[in-house]
Amino acid sequence: MNIEEIYKDSGALLSGHFILSSGKHSRNYLQSAKVLEDPKRAQSLALALADMIKSSGIKIDTVCAPALGGVIAGYELARALGVRSIFVERKEGKMELRRGFRVEKDEKVLICEDIITTGGSAMEASDIIEELGASVVAFAALANRGFCKREGSNSEAKANCRLPSNKPLFALADFEFEIYEPEDCPLCKEGSIAIKPGSRGN
Ligand code: ZN
Repeated sequence: MNIEEIYKDSGALLSGHFILSSGKHSRNYLQSAKVLEDPKRAQSLALALADMIKSSGIKIDTVCAPALGGVIAGYELARALGVRSIFVERKEGKMELRRGFRVEKDEKVLICEDIITTGGSAMEASDIIEELGASVVAFAALANRGFCKREGSNSEAKANCRLPSNKPLFALADFEFEIYEPEDCPLCKEGSIAIKPGSRGN
């Protein structure tokens, strides 16, 4: 399964000149929702991720996703693993478990995102699940931006990774892009204008 090809073919891996959410510039951008637009594709990606998790031998009772980005990936992964699917969401800036969702004491929870950058949202989700008495045993994402170390990858975690080193991160591929400070961006120097993909509806 060539994950990069799948992201390209679905319009989820863009090439051009982009402003990332960090404010830095890049030739590439991951528009993660696009890879989940086709339910069959979403299902096959989740099955591949579930296979990695199952072969690790780690027992999972529940998949929990931080809304909104992680919800579809989390739901498909839970279906592929045959476990329960819940999500946490932000209310007035703080992540909460709402809508009647509950976790049991010592329930084994995997936190799932569509994409892991530094893992900030995943950690907020993990903190609230553990405050409620359950155990977060692993993290997962379809794509990893390469700041955190995923199982099976030779790339080491970078200083800005927020995920704990003692819990595994399962992801299908690393997408490490060259990023530039706006003032040092070679594309800007060529006179090209950077765009924010999310804000342009593409
Ligand atoms: Zn630029």
